[in-house]
Amino acid sequence: MIYFDKVSKIYPDESVALDTISFGVKPKEFVTIVGHSGAGKSTLIKMLIAEEWPSDGAVFFESANIHRLKKSEMNKLRRRIGTVFQDFRLIPNKTAYENIAFAMEASGRTDSEIASDVPHVLELVGLGNKIWSFPHELSGGEKQRVAIARAIVNQPDIIIADEPTGNLDPINTYEIIKILQKINELGTTVLLTTHNKGVVDTVNGRVITMEKGKIIRDDKDGKYVL
Ligand code: ADP
Repeated sequence: MIYFDKVSKIYPDESVALDTISFGVKPKEFVTIVGHSGAGKSTLIKMLIAEEWPSDGAVFFESANIHRLKKSEMNKLRRRIGTVFQDFRLIPNKTAYENIAFAMEASGRTDSEIASDVPHVLELVGLGNKIWSFPHELSGGEKQRVAIARAIVNQPDIIIADEPTGNLDPINTYEIIKILQKINELGTTVLLTTHNKGVVDTVNGRVITMEKGKIIRDDKDGKYVL
């Protein structure tokens, strides 16, 4: 589904963020990328949504080279990728419902689809009782659940979660990982990054360990090194 073919990224200041990375992700996999801060995890994620360009190598989504897509094709691809970030990225003056509805409107969904799907996804992430809350009325864990609901509402093929638990306490961290696992069990591919050993202990699945821009371990049994 996703394939990194010898991808390197050297930023203009000569930081080597990715050093000849190759790996693939199959549909329905749950892949955790672990590594210390600065290992290159965010850069790798940014490649997938074409926020950064490789200095060398190529990144494929199915057979398409992501960085060679036309703008319209890239917009189409972005709709197949749901994203979740450490800082939630919710719109502050919109309720949980409106934040999710906004994402649905942007992808051309009708009012009746919105009215039926938004409560459903909020229920799925355990927030059925917070539909009309604004972000400032929600805890960090609750905000992240809204962000996950927004990421899945358009039924993407893959969820990319870049340090989704970076701002959360251990209990909320555990619950967010459980929600991502549930989404994965329902058939969506998940690619998660973390620097948190506790997260790696919670996930069971494939763990890719990065260090200084390289993959130093890719373990299908969920073992890891840090
Ligand atoms: P991680 O997500 O694992 O913390 P990053 O991908 O953010 O790692 O960073 C990898 C390396 O690239 C680090 O050395 C970082 O300082 C550098 N880096 C990241 N983004 C930029 C940028 N926009 N410009 C220059 N260097 C960057």
